Amino acid sequence: MSKNYRRFNPVTAIRNIDSAFDGKKMNITRIFGENTLQLETLKERLPKAVWKELKKTITDSEPLNSDVADAVAVVMKDWAMERGATHFTHWFQPLTGYTAEKHDSFITPNKGGGAIAEFSGKELIQGEPDASSFPSGGLRPTFEARGYTAWDPTSPAFVVDNENGTYLCIPTAFASWTGEALDHKTPLLRSNEAINKQALRAARHFGITNAKRVYSTAGCEQEYFLIDQEFYYSRPDLMQSNRTLVGGVPPRGQELSDHYFGSIPDRVLAFMMEAEYEMYRLGIPVKTRHNEVAPGQYEIAPIFEKANHAADHQQLLMITLKKVARKYGLVALLHEKPFAGVNGSGKHLNWSMSTDRGFNLLEPGEDPHTNMSFLFFSTAVIKAVHDHQDLLRVAVASAGNDHRLGANEAPPAIISIFTGEQLADVYEQLQNGGAKSSKKGGLLGLGTPVLPHLPKHAGDRNRTSPFAFTGNKFEFRAVGSSQSVSFPIVVLNTIVAEALDIMTTALENELEKGTEFEAALAKVIKSTLKESSKIIFNGDGYSDDWQKEAAKRGLLNLKSTYEALPQLGTDKNLKLFSKYEVLNDKEVASRLEIFTEQYFLNINIEAETTEKIARTMIIPASVRYLNELAAIVDRGKSIGLDVSGTKTVAEEVNQALNGLIAANAELSKQNHELGGESVVEKAEHMFVNVLPAMNDVRKYADQLEHLVADDYWPLPTYSEMLFVR
Ligand code: ADP
Ligand code: MG
Repeated sequence: MSKNYRRFNPVTAIRNIDSAFDGKKMNITRIFGENTLQLETLKERLPKAVWKELKKTITDSEPLNSDVADAVAVVMKDWAMERGATHFTHWFQPLTGYTAEKHDSFITPNKGGGAIAEFSGKELIQGEPDASSFPSGGLRPTFEARGYTAWDPTSPAFVVDNENGTYLCIPTAFASWTGEALDHKTPLLRSNEAINKQALRAARHFGITNAKRVYSTAGCEQEYFLIDQEFYYSRPDLMQSNRTLVGGVPPRGQELSDHYFGSIPDRVLAFMMEAEYEMYRLGIPVKTRHNEVAPGQYEIAPIFEKANHAADHQQLLMITLKKVARKYGLVALLHEKPFAGVNGSGKHLNWSMSTDRGFNLLEPGEDPHTNMSFLFFSTAVIKAVHDHQDLLRVAVASAGNDHRLGANEAPPAIISIFTGEQLADVYEQLQNGGAKSSKKGGLLGLGTPVLPHLPKHAGDRNRTSPFAFTGNKFEFRAVGSSQSVSFPIVVLNTIVAEALDIMTTALENELEKGTEFEAALAKVIKSTLKESSKIIFNGDGYSDDWQKEAAKRGLLNLKSTYEALPQLGTDKNLKLFSKYEVLNDKEVASRLEIFTEQYFLNINIEAETTEKIARTMIIPASVRYLNELAAIVDRGKSIGLDVSGTKTVAEEVNQALNGLIAANAELSKQNHELGGESVVEKAEHMFVNVLPAMNDVRKYADQLEHLVADDYWPLPTYSEMLFVR
């Protein structure tokens, strides 16, 4: 009977790969971007005057006129239909963190009973999906459910292939009819304007005069797990909540460190190759792939791009991983902590600022001038992170990510910056009054008596920091593996824009007083660092000492989403977002509501799933096994056997079973309560009552997993899921 569990007939998929893909036939330079509508194609196909207009919109953010839209729509439709497209969709990023699309066909019936394919500028520019089922956090009462999507011309359109057809995706922003942002893209575009304005203003002081724009750049390293789909379908917890809610660590975990950078299993590599092929076609510049620390864990990373493109591509990358995995009998798990006690998954967000000429403002550079601008811009990032630790923490807060941040894992919930020892020394010197002779050899001279010397290779390695300088960019490592990178980018863009604004104003005030440039610069950097340098930490972020030291420094330590989220709505943050025109007060409030609701909903689903698994799978399996043990004890005695050993096992099972039943009763009770009417009260109930009750159930369930006969156990185990590849 119990042998019918799926976990006993796994991995048929290993032998049955359902894909005709043959990577040897592909030419990556030819296929790269073939499914995206490239600027060159638009340039080729549009009338010259129209192309010029469009380009102004794309590069200089100038408003778009409707004639241009009509012309672009025709080119877009033709291009898509040449690739077999029958439908188009406005592709948008609602606050669920996923993407959404509703397809419309190009077909319009004509009078003669036939049909023609049509697509107008109006349809390109604006769409009106039935928006009532997307979260709006109170911004859009249901009686006025209208929301609209608006074409983002700065982001290339693309086609998506399916076995049976193709459709055109038009990246769009999503807003309420009153113009409030309901999505992740709108604030990202607005925050790009903020950073552009302030960075450009600062850059002028450093002789960077050839730049017309500054934009933020992002490169996202994605970690994920792959498991056989047979196991996935036998685990209601994975199916419902993307993580295992019960299950114990296998004897062979990651202790042997034999997985990291190890050779990639064949089936996995085959999957990666096809997934990457699909990504290349979409123009996602995927660069690296490797095994991660945990068994069954992998990483994929593209080359960085403009933040807006990187954010779109990140969404497509996650979708593609999930889609293609299915063809190989695998399921890609993007959750931050699918397996308790095993390394979690993050998404390192590498972030910098670049001019439209490709000059990286966080590149330490080789000569004094770039060194000076580097010191200014990097100090601005330090200030931004110092002033807004709370927001950075909020930007990565989710029920899933709480199992990484604030748990015994990288990185900690305390936001700090790693600069490396050498740069720390430079900042130290700056604070203590400028020019001292340089400490180490191999330093770059600044050719000035006021500023200290910069090390040639500024970025050393530290994997425990949530926010690290890595040579010519910052790496925000606290981002969760399943989340959209947009909000973290929005926060970074906005807080750095503010820091640049404040520092540039201070610099300009000094210059007005007649202070010489280098002295003025040194003064501004020095005073900024004095206020902010307590955010710099180059030690071990995992250690208990750091928890104490950070508390002494007065740094925030918001261990859970429940504790972190309210920070989003403080006066300081409302002012910040509205001053830089990224989010108005209502938009911030709606986000706070939605994020809190998502936290509550996620834990609520997990808790109900845990209760059900315990009740309908683990308790029955344990009872059956106990029944067998009890029978032997009984019958053994009747024929004079010494059954004391079996009796001990029976007692152990019974004890854990009693514990589980009691714990599950408590969980059930908590699940029946909501804690109140508001999302905040519900979230509090989850945090204070439900999570501990769930953990209690898990404790007994995991004890039973080690006690109950394996052939009675209904759930695939960690060793099976992590080691069958
Ligand atoms: P790591 O050692 O962390 O793997 P890599 O050099 O491989 O570092 O880079 C990791 C990511 O950082 C890649 O996606 C890369 O494209 C990105 N990256 C590099 N330079 C920048 C930059 N200037 N801005 C944003 N991301 C960048
Ligand atoms: Mg990295």
